[in-house]
Amino acid sequence: MSAEPAPLATPYRTHTCGQLRVDDDGRDAKLAGWVHRRRDYGKLVFIDLRDRHGITQVVVDAADAPEAHATASRVRSEFVIVVEGAVARRQPGTENPKLATGAVELQARMVTILNEAKTPPFYLNDPDAPIDESLRLRYRYLDIRREAMLSRLVMRSRLVHAIREAHHASGFVEVETPNLIKSTPEGARDFIVPSRLQPGTVYALPQSPQQLKQLLMVAGVDRYFQIARCFRDEDMRGDRQPEFTQLDLEMSFVDEAAVMGFVEQMVIEVSRATVPDRPIRAIPFPVFEYEDAMERYGSDKPDIRFGMELFDLAPALTGPDGSPASGFRVFDETLAGGGRVKGMTGPGLGGASRREIDELTEIAKRFGARGLVHLAVQPGGELHGPIAKFLAPETQAAVRAAARAGEGDLILVIADKAETTNDVLGRLRVELGARLGLADPNELAYCWVHHFPMYQWDAEHGRWDATHNPFSGVVPEDEALLTTTSGDLDVRDPGDPAGRAKAMQYDIALNGWELGGGSVRIWNRDLLARSFNLQGYSIEQMKERFGAILEAFEYGAPPHGGIALGIDRWAALFANQATIREVMAFPKTQSGSDLMLEAPSAPEEEQFQELGLRFVGVPEKR
Ligand code: ASP
Repeated sequence: MSAEPAPLATPYRTHTCGQLRVDDDGRDAKLAGWVHRRRDYGKLVFIDLRDRHGITQVVVDAADAPEAHATASRVRSEFVIVVEGAVARRQPGTENPKLATGAVELQARMVTILNEAKTPPFYLNDPDAPIDESLRLRYRYLDIRREAMLSRLVMRSRLVHAIREAHHASGFVEVETPNLIKSTPEGARDFIVPSRLQPGTVYALPQSPQQLKQLLMVAGVDRYFQIARCFRDEDMRGDRQPEFTQLDLEMSFVDEAAVMGFVEQMVIEVSRATVPDRPIRAIPFPVFEYEDAMERYGSDKPDIRFGMELFDLAPALTGPDGSPASGFRVFDETLAGGGRVKGMTGPGLGGASRREIDELTEIAKRFGARGLVHLAVQPGGELHGPIAKFLAPETQAAVRAAARAGEGDLILVIADKAETTNDVLGRLRVELGARLGLADPNELAYCWVHHFPMYQWDAEHGRWDATHNPFSGVVPEDEALLTTTSGDLDVRDPGDPAGRAKAMQYDIALNGWELGGGSVRIWNRDLLARSFNLQGYSIEQMKERFGAILEAFEYGAPPHGGIALGIDRWAALFANQATIREVMAFPKTQSGSDLMLEAPSAPEEEQFQELGLRFVGVPEKR
């Protein structure tokens, strides 16, 4: 925090509580802030005075300043006070090297109480005291007085500042798009806002500025960015918030490489400016094909700070004629049925206890697997585990080779449908990586994953859902897959060749979290109409929902693409926090409540009347 400019002097203070140094010895100073801690030794009262910039020790001596001493005796924690006096070097041996101001103290001539404070509901001056999170959220303004929370918000501010600088330096224009708009689907429910002026109608809050930023490209803005608030009404699984912040950007006349190239450079600059002490693992960022990432890491947001890659056991379990012949029924049936048998090696885990293995099996089941096979490599290479006896020595050797496992390692195997196998092993890999402390917590390991499938078949609705963004473009070599149909736009079937098309969609991951995602868009109107149609929108629905963009595309749309990065996640990762709530000033709880403002709350009767609304109740879920 030292490099930031100090606020100008005001009638309340000449310096901040983080500013005074040995060089100031002998000068007069006036400080204002909160009483962080008070120690009363009778004739001497010590006050640690705190503001955002730091803490300064104040000494009030009854012999020198009886009035100030009387006031100081009355102050309590979190009172807001002003202290005037002389800066003095501390007695040798009493300096506090933990404080930037720790070599000096302010010898008070005058102490003024500006405001008293109730006893706070939790300790603000003990960084290690565990505090119930709902209490912190209820009194967030007190929570933010704590150094840890405050420094995270300051870091976040630096992050956003660095983002702005990097974009301006590259010719981007910051444009604010409105929050009262029409639905922009990003896979969640919309928050809607009833219109008073047009009764019976609603605005939707943006799930993202997606359509507007594309329209800005049609408008010729060329390079746009925004620190955009997005609103998504979803069940708050995991670490989600109903409103969150994205760095949203879009560029014209670009291909995938151009967007990824700019974003990578920007991400490096922003990381170096915001957290200069944290090394970036690999530059250029590794780029994985989606299929490759799933195959090797079981995840489309791989944590590449450690290895422990997944391996395919099919070759080791298959006989010379190509048919499954491992001797273990579950493996053979899985392979014969088109499933996958894959594994992962836990280094040095061969001695895991029964209980530890049961725990891993439980986790695998929770993630959706039917079971988890474990094989410990014994001295001499023999495999040990409940199913080892079914595997012939050659098979065991082949499994060990595929697993690159040595004595003392533990081979974990899942046999299931392809997706389940990858997904479960991917999650187990993350879990084991954390348990074994394999990842360097200081490192920033960015990587790209791209070329996701365009669509996945949604049997329930009989349509091809976009796997990511409904506006994502198809890689040039797969364009024909979207156009080779009978021409009847309203026919959708699971065998459509479009199901094999890959998208110009790229995600950026950081330390195992999805940091952002974007795509080069479909900018050709006919292709866009066809893509929307595969996604289940009839021509009428398309016009109704995406009329503006479809119409705009008739007036000359440039090729364009962009991305959005989650600023909350980025800040949380920079601050090494497990939840984004720790880097948000006023987050909501898991059930979407603001405990401090007590939102959401019932509307006023008058508001109902003006809007012509009344609650009829929510239908009971059956
Ligand atoms: N609008 C997308 C999202 O919110 C990002 C993008 O494709 O630019 O995830």
